[in-house]
Amino acid sequence: MTAPVITLNNGLQMPVVGLGVWKAKDGEEVKTAVKAALAAGYRSIDTAAVYQNESGVGEAIRESGVPREELFITTKVWNSDQGYESTLQAFETSLEKLGLDYVDLYLVHWPVKGKYIDTYRALEKLYADGRVRAIGVSNFHIHHLEDLMAHTSVVPAVNQIELHPRLSQTEIRSFCQQHGIAVEAWSPLMQGGGIFENETLRAIAEKHGKTPAQVVLRWDIQSGIVTIPKSVTPSRIQENLNIFDFELSAEEMAQIDALNENRRVGADPDNFN
Ligand code: NAD
Repeated sequence: MTAPVITLNNGLQMPVVGLGVWKAKDGEEVKTAVKAALAAGYRSIDTAAVYQNESGVGEAIRESGVPREELFITTKVWNSDQGYESTLQAFETSLEKLGLDYVDLYLVHWPVKGKYIDTYRALEKLYADGRVRAIGVSNFHIHHLEDLMAHTSVVPAVNQIELHPRLSQTEIRSFCQQHGIAVEAWSPLMQGGGIFENETLRAIAEKHGKTPAQVVLRWDIQSGIVTIPKSVTPSRIQENLNIFDFELSAEEMAQIDALNENRRVGADPDNFN
């Protein structure tokens, strides 16, 4: 099956589950993963210039035979390319590597101080020119979003942030909700480190005949969050999409919410440039 979609603030529809491809090697590894995902029913792929696998993603898309209009492809401008002109150039490079003539969602990868507003203005230009179907940001705290929205005109469609049961990000989620910005979870499975052994998750998983990974991803969906688990293993890729045949109760949702420790596995956007 394909994943359900949400409607972004400009009317564009985005699948609630996508495949993340960070650390998937360009060439056979990423191609196998993307093809397995598309065959399983995924329609959304999350890559970035810095992942250095846009070429493989593009090849897999073409070889899959899935019509372009069914796909939702996200890529991101890397920090060293930020600034107005250099972002426009970086976009052309990404598009060429992907072998596409537009991307669905183009994101500012991190809020590089002194640059992210000019970078976002370049995204606004690409959006106005019809080169991208939606624009957004990644790793933006509330103060970055406030600053951005005070100086630009297109409200980001998406803020892609680290989010998992140990970092549930409730404040920024409610800010984004108020402003019509969809929240997308990166490292939803904590990069595979440490969450699957959690007893609460294991008990819930057992009750539903699901895996702890599926429970975490289902918690994302029921929280209204877009999620992009990464795997290069076809059976796990399939498993991570197979989350639409069960429902967590309000009590189970609350039990998972209670696992929050405000603990990051990645960098804090305030200390990363
Ligand atoms: P993740 O949380 O998705 O974890 C991936 C790891 O979990 C895999 O490598 C594997 O070891 C394990 N795994 C996956 N499915 C499993 C399953 N069903 N059962 C058991 N183990 C399983 O980690 P991630 O790759 O960091 O995050 C997902 C995606 O988010 C990335 O690939 C990338 O696209 C995006 N991302 C974005 C940023 C950003 O700054 N915007 C940063 C990190 C990641």
